[in-house]
Amino acid sequence: MNVFERQKAYFYSGATRSYQYRSKALNLLKEVIKDYETEIMKALKRDLNKSDSEAFMTEIGIIYKEIDFVLKHLKKWIKPKRVRTALTHIGSVGKIHPDPYGVTLIISPWNYPFQLAITPLIGAIAGGNTAIIKPSELTPNTAKLIEQVINQTFLDDFIAVEQGGADKSQELLDLPFDYIFFTGSVPVGKIVMEKASQHLTPITLELGGKSPVIVHEDASLKLAAKRIAWGKFINAGQTCVAPDYLFVHENVKEQFLSNLAEAIVELYGETPLNNPEYGQIINDKHFQRLTNYLNSGTLFHGGQTNSGKRSIEPTVLTNINHEDPIMAEEIFGPILPVLTYSDINEAIDYIRNQPKPLSFYFFSETAHYQNLVLEQISFGGGCINDTIYHLSTPYLPFGGIGESGIGSYRGKHSFETFTHQKSILKQSSHFDLPIRYPNFKNRMKWIRKMMK
Ligand code: NAD
Repeated sequence: MNVFERQKAYFYSGATRSYQYRSKALNLLKEVIKDYETEIMKALKRDLNKSDSEAFMTEIGIIYKEIDFVLKHLKKWIKPKRVRTALTHIGSVGKIHPDPYGVTLIISPWNYPFQLAITPLIGAIAGGNTAIIKPSELTPNTAKLIEQVINQTFLDDFIAVEQGGADKSQELLDLPFDYIFFTGSVPVGKIVMEKASQHLTPITLELGGKSPVIVHEDASLKLAAKRIAWGKFINAGQTCVAPDYLFVHENVKEQFLSNLAEAIVELYGETPLNNPEYGQIINDKHFQRLTNYLNSGTLFHGGQTNSGKRSIEPTVLTNINHEDPIMAEEIFGPILPVLTYSDINEAIDYIRNQPKPLSFYFFSETAHYQNLVLEQISFGGGCINDTIYHLSTPYLPFGGIGESGIGSYRGKHSFETFTHQKSILKQSSHFDLPIRYPNFKNRMKWIRKMMK
């Protein structure tokens, strides 16, 4: 039997369903990550030049928090929930059973290669499933470590890791999984959805795209600049929810840009390319792709590159046109194009004419404008007066809409994502209301009374 078949058999043995099994597995997962903390940080340093503090904050600490949150609530979540009984169903009891799907597939990307493989796994375990993880081949040190951590802790009948690139991914996608959880780019998301349709497998697609930020004229400019610089340049801009491009009100453009340049220097110094805390670009292909963008508009800040280190300074470009190539695709690097507007509706119109973004950020101190953009723009999730922070709380579901994804997860939402809500009506055998049967006298009159 191959690993998929063995996982199927293991799932049907019922082993993964009990609360004890799930909570033990989550505790073991946390323990092994703690044991391997230093190795994980080293692998992230080798793959992405992530600093230890950034690696801990965005790839390890966030997992501890997620596991603790799930463990705190899991017992309550897995219990079937009783619902009300309709008048037509007197004598019966209705319950919703959160039922594990079975064998799940988790495909993850390279930009947060540890966290984005393990966070969905927490949901899969909490839901009572088995899982096969396919980490990104572009971060080989982290991928190898994920395999080591998992193999050392779990039977592969329960959790397994399969290594490889697109071919391996496609091979796995041909199997009749019970659930697929994919994190990655929009084009590959489309392939995954097409493959899943062969077996009508339910999916979550956590995709990317261009996430806009608007800085309105009444924003607290200095703070906005610092929070935007942090959200944009963390992991050298290779973050799915990083602000991709920025609209600033004409009246505050100069002041804001000067605050932004100051914030970049404050966070990364005068020579970020020499700062060991500053991330590198994943590979030469992406480095080339990004350096081509540096010809757009006018260079306002940064712009220096080091091809040997695959590093690009935090860069701000102004005088950008909507038609510039940098506005066509997700940037996914440390380059921020800035556009201006004089009427907020110009920015809203532009954003509404693009694919629905994964995230959107709005900086303004006025409730009227805050409500306006929330009502007028459709997007996955986001922040008012901050960037990125919405995804690090287990209380908010994280996911996209339209081209930026399908479904969501984190905290209870992960549990819901990885379980099917099975509706069960338990009927009484003590009596049998005759009204439903065709031989009931005056049936129509009584049915009308009960169903009006
Ligand atoms: P990617 O789509 O290239 O790869 C993701 C995974 O899919 C990898 O494991 C890869 O091996 C596999 N894959 C690649 N080509 C495939 C194919 N043809 N068929 C089947 N599988 C294939 O994405 P990436 O470059 O690793 O990650 C960057 C993208 O992911 C960005 O668009 C980013 O916005 C997005 N992302 C989204 C989130 C989110 O939570 N929404 C998080 C991180 C990254």
